[in-house]
Amino acid sequence: MKINKEWHRANRMPKNPTTDDRINWHIEHAKNCSCRKMSKKILEIIREKHPGYKNDG
Ligand SMILES: [Zn+2]
Repeated sequence: MKINKEWHRANRMPKNPTTDDRINWHIEHAKNCSCRKMSKKILEIIREKHPGYKNDG
């Protein structure tokens, strides 16, 4: 559980994120930081849009 502060500073979630904003943010977040796990809901949405997406965390 390590937070990548630099990444978070450079990648803030938009104020009123669209579903795509959220998905993209979480995909990039999972690649760059492990401060928190992806919620089940987000993972479901990502898998709908990106079949085959893998995230074990
Ligand atoms: Zn993080």
